[in-house]
Amino acid sequence: MNKAIDFSETPVTSVYGVNSFSNAVMRERLPKNVYKELLEVQAGEKELSLEVAEVVAGAMKDWALEKGATHYTHWFHPLTGLTAEKHDSFISPTPDGKILMEFSGKELIKGEPDASSFPSGGLRATFEARGYTAWDTTSPAFLKQDPTGTTLCIPTAFIGYYGHALDKKVPLLRSMDALSVQALRVLRALGNETSRRVITTVGPEQEYFLVDSEYFARRPDLMLTGRTVFGSMPAKGQEMEDHYFGAIKERVAAFMREVNYELWKVGVSAKTQHNEVAPNQFELAPIFTTTNVAVDGNQLVMETLQKVARRHGLEALLHEKPFAGVNGSGKHNNWSMATDDGYNLLEPGENPESNARFLLFMTAVVEAVDRYAVLIRSAAATAGNDHRLGANEAPPAIISVFLGSQLCGILDAIVEGRAQSQSNGDKIKLGVTSLPSLPRDLSDRNRTSPFAFTGNKFEFRMVGSSQSIATPNTYLNLAVAQVLSEFADALEKSADKTAAIQSIVKDSYSKHRRVTFNGNGYSEEWVKEAERRGLPNIRASIDSFGILIQPETVSLFEGHKVLSKAELESRYHIYLEKYSKQVNIEAGVMIDMVRRSIFPAATAFAGALARESASLAAIGAVSSPQEKRAKRIAELTSEIYEESEKLEKVLSEAQEIEDAFTQAKAYRDKVTVQMSALRSRVDAVEKLVSKDAWPLPTYEDLLFRL
Ligand code: ADP
Ligand code: MG
Repeated sequence: MNKAIDFSETPVTSVYGVNSFSNAVMRERLPKNVYKELLEVQAGEKELSLEVAEVVAGAMKDWALEKGATHYTHWFHPLTGLTAEKHDSFISPTPDGKILMEFSGKELIKGEPDASSFPSGGLRATFEARGYTAWDTTSPAFLKQDPTGTTLCIPTAFIGYYGHALDKKVPLLRSMDALSVQALRVLRALGNETSRRVITTVGPEQEYFLVDSEYFARRPDLMLTGRTVFGSMPAKGQEMEDHYFGAIKERVAAFMREVNYELWKVGVSAKTQHNEVAPNQFELAPIFTTTNVAVDGNQLVMETLQKVARRHGLEALLHEKPFAGVNGSGKHNNWSMATDDGYNLLEPGENPESNARFLLFMTAVVEAVDRYAVLIRSAAATAGNDHRLGANEAPPAIISVFLGSQLCGILDAIVEGRAQSQSNGDKIKLGVTSLPSLPRDLSDRNRTSPFAFTGNKFEFRMVGSSQSIATPNTYLNLAVAQVLSEFADALEKSADKTAAIQSIVKDSYSKHRRVTFNGNGYSEEWVKEAERRGLPNIRASIDSFGILIQPETVSLFEGHKVLSKAELESRYHIYLEKYSKQVNIEAGVMIDMVRRSIFPAATAFAGALARESASLAAIGAVSSPQEKRAKRIAELTSEIYEESEKLEKVLSEAQEIEDAFTQAKAYRDKVTVQMSALRSRVDAVEKLVSKDAWPLPTYEDLLFRL
């Protein structure tokens, strides 16, 4: 364990961002004209020139060397959902046998990591080898420091030789551009002449579990799959609600302090931390920022949680459902749109003009979520998240939007063309110029909605805890960009803007208000009501991926130049394969654990009981409880044997299937079903075997000991 950080000696202000090559550092270290040009590049107004890159690279290298760096890496987001790095040292030999430390503009702009083993979904044959990384100028480079060395990390996009997107960053950046272009058209039509760019902002809340490393190391399932594939709940679960927001244990607090320290150093603004609902479950939320920076930041949060946990004898679990019987973990993706000159477009304003703008952008999001519900659902589709969504602890698999009764009331009134009285008795008139101020805090809270308006932003709650937030935000940006483009078409054509705004909001909301729902998203009634409204309810991940190759989706993505048909097809295959691989590993781990530890342990324990029963009988003592218990365990053990044989059979059948969708379907419909059948027997036998004889740390150890 590391020694405690004393923030009175090392004030947070002197720690924050020391390892981030931020704009503040660049302003200090770059010549004025170079810095100015870089700002234009960041704003998307200029191409990056090699001359500028050369100067930036020099400054970046000097800065990194001063801080002890020996290597640099282009840091990227392949389609595995993780981050990748390939380190190069700065050394460059001189003819006389010495070295210089070098880093050129070319090396900054472009890397050739090859990296041909990452999933490309057929876009790139391995023999073509070349994939390259390109610097994302808007996300600051940072230093990764560990006790033995320092590496300069440069956030990059990962592209195939023929320009195909091979990662999660490229489509994200393109979707941010698309949204900016369309939102600006709307703003211009509303008379805004000053904003130069619209950015999407994101603040992701990260949930995770902590377990003791010693127990973790004795659970092959946790080590290999990130979740427990067996385990029976102790008498106590989360029902007492004593963990949520409870006092943070000292050991955990020490860990959190070091996590914050590490994150602050690289300029990730870790802000909020607390105990979550399930035992040993926690949350960390940073302050929101531009989406691509938030995506990079969240990857660093996940990596830092895992790295720092190990220093404290802990293991951070990022899986969506590490334990059956208590809540799983998600990632609440808070999302909004803002202009570069500081207006949050989802902030209800103080005057009629900003209210009109607010209502337009708000309606655009509602329409986007309704029209592209399946696409947005698919952004949260993973094998891990299938355990969560719709399981009464996380949002349902049905996409709906919570706006709160006040906002719904205002929009309903617009649709129905009637004035609506405010709580203070004033009438809301419907002409834009006479719209009165909207109340400041517009929304009540609703914890069961997958997509909730929370006052000045939307909170998308379906995203899984282990996922990169790049894809959810790409889909969201793109869907909203498309609706905004249609709004802009109408606005640009109209002479009477006031009337146009009214009719756009009215038409859009009347068509799409079916997606709004303010009630309890966990209830059975909502499932029925949603069906009546014709809203899709896609329970299994694999049933949502098909949307990626539908013609409407392809034209949406191609229309805004976010992904091509070929790129979408490749992603469709990659997501299906990823699902299959994940289930395949889990099933394999189950079979292995049963064979090598659970079956032998249960058999031995039943045998011991039988022998003890016989010895008791030999002295004329009561021996039937031992006999009965031995018989019951033997029965269950035999079932475990049968069920694991069956699992092995369906598993090998699934492995043989060629077609990616048919295969994923077999994993879902056959393999996961058989996994549940096996698990229920194992969990039942666990309850009957003595703790000493059970070969695995139990849920009690994992969830209640820290
Ligand atoms: P809660 O748990 O009530 O939802 P938190 O404080 O845990 O709230 O998280 C809210 C998250 O929303 C924070 O990361 C915060 O920075 C972020 N956020 C606030 N305003 C915006 C905005 N305009 N755009 C995106 N995210 C935002
Ligand atoms: Mg939240």
